[in-house]
Amino acid sequence: MKWSKLMIQTLREDPGDAEIDSHKLMVRAGLMKKAAGGLYTYLPLGMRVLNKVQRIVREEMDRAGAQEIVMPILQPAELWKTSGRWESMGPGMFRLKDRGAHDYALSPTAEEMVTDLVKGVVSSYRQLPVTVYQIQWKFRDEIRPRFGLMRSKEFLMKDAYSFDVSLDAADASYMAMFEAYKRVFARCGLKAYPVEADTGDIGGKFSHEFHVLADSGEDGIAFCGGCGYAANLEKAERRVAPRADAPCGEMETIPTPGAKTIDEVSKFMGVPGSAFVKSLVYLADGRPVMVCVPGDRDVNEVKLRHFLDAKKVELADFETVLRATGANAGSVGPVKPADASLRIVCDQELRGAKGCIVGANRDDHHIKNVDLDRDAKIAPGDYADLVVVRDGDICAKCGQPLAIRRGIEVGHVFKLGTKYTDAFKAVYKNDSLEERTMVMGCYGIGVSRTVQAVIEQSHDANGIVWPASVAPFQVCICLLDPDNADAAQVAAKLESELEAKGIDVIVDDRQERPGVKFKDADLIGFTVRVVVGAKGLAAGGVEVKRRCDEKSATRVVPPAEAAEAVASLLA
Ligand code: ATP
Ligand code: MG
Repeated sequence: MKWSKLMIQTLREDPGDAEIDSHKLMVRAGLMKKAAGGLYTYLPLGMRVLNKVQRIVREEMDRAGAQEIVMPILQPAELWKTSGRWESMGPGMFRLKDRGAHDYALSPTAEEMVTDLVKGVVSSYRQLPVTVYQIQWKFRDEIRPRFGLMRSKEFLMKDAYSFDVSLDAADASYMAMFEAYKRVFARCGLKAYPVEADTGDIGGKFSHEFHVLADSGEDGIAFCGGCGYAANLEKAERRVAPRADAPCGEMETIPTPGAKTIDEVSKFMGVPGSAFVKSLVYLADGRPVMVCVPGDRDVNEVKLRHFLDAKKVELADFETVLRATGANAGSVGPVKPADASLRIVCDQELRGAKGCIVGANRDDHHIKNVDLDRDAKIAPGDYADLVVVRDGDICAKCGQPLAIRRGIEVGHVFKLGTKYTDAFKAVYKNDSLEERTMVMGCYGIGVSRTVQAVIEQSHDANGIVWPASVAPFQVCICLLDPDNADAAQVAAKLESELEAKGIDVIVDDRQERPGVKFKDADLIGFTVRVVVGAKGLAAGGVEVKRRCDEKSATRVVPPAEAAEAVASLLA
């Protein structure tokens, strides 16, 4: 391929709206162009990468026994109403009407449609298990589309769905996908870690996310160096030692004027934040509940939602807080709230806490010397793990310290159980001709996000450093003197020799200065660069270098040996 024939636009300046390197580089290297907020056009170079990632995904899905289908993006509301997600998806789902005023959604995912499909095809245990997949555009009205392809409104997803006769059988389908995901990401040149994850809106019992570690990642992940435990912070658990607090004297109410946050009160009183009980009033599906955690800790709302078995938890408005406790946020606590029936749930670390400081349920007042068992009304079953783990916390599995890293979620595998097959009555007949509900799994890969995650993990100050498997072109031949017949001929010959080896090559035949060509080759990040110029040829050869190597690693080889040298660099 000749550079001059491709629509390539490289930019020297970072786009103004790009916050992270991979987003800047996607645009600067001419892989994509912003069409509107959260919407991008893939330019020829970017399309080549997207296609390569898709090919890898397809090959590994096929290898794992999944069958490719493609379902409509435009999906009738009835399907979503059957599962209850027409409501629960909320404003994150794009909705529209046809001319007959029928409601539709633009598919943000496809559990409903695939369950309806398989229900209509599978009737006997003999037809199970079955796993189908599609690589299809998805639409989500993200609150904050950002970071380019990382969080866009329209993105390419590989979504797969497995159907099995039983929970045990579904485990095998899950594991097959889990293994396939490891291969997909490894083949894309990515280091992706499977981490335990919350199952989110999609429901189900168990799931793993695949994360690429990067400082720009939107998810926090807890890793244990001891046992290998890895979990999204939404879910990560810690071990707490039972406390042995000394008995404390009687409670004492003290004025804390103007001090609202734990920080402010702790400064005011001259005691560390950990001596406080942080108390917050939440609404769980509309019902107020007080949540208490150690003063230096943050509430994990995902854990809270699960513990309360609620669909939605949110901080209560100030009127609710006042009604429930008798005070405004900042002065509330578990001792005698105004509403004596207010449920109080506490983080497990507070079990047996004595001598702590809590809000007094009276504005600008706190109480010290509180013994939670003695002074507050908390049911023994209302202590649970409710906080976000942090660096240095103790691994619940093995007792070693946890470390927190940032990650980009590139894939997600779920054991769904029968949430959707129940809703759609997707049943099969077993060998006694009894009806049984199919058991489902679902598996997503953010194909377009993966493209950008490769860049986030593999770039330097000069540009992208593509792994050979997904580079837009594996080799760039910088032809320094396109008008020199000898040089042009050497480049053309090398191009066809490499193509004969199945290597894709771009020849930079532009009338540009060498510096411009080198800069662009580095910016786009082709895996191997070959420099062919009249001067070099006169001195005996062409220059060959991998993008990831230092300049000093450049080798000069005779033109006849160049194809071999390039192939071995790519291997
Ligand atoms: P996130 O937590 O990042 O919002 P999610 O958990 O909602 O993602 P899933 O429903 O698990 O996403 O979708 C499967 C995959 O699709 C994700 O692992 C991710 O790689 C990708 N993905 C999800 N939302 C987006 C988006 N807005 N833009 C690009 N890729 C996305
Ligand atoms: Mg997910």
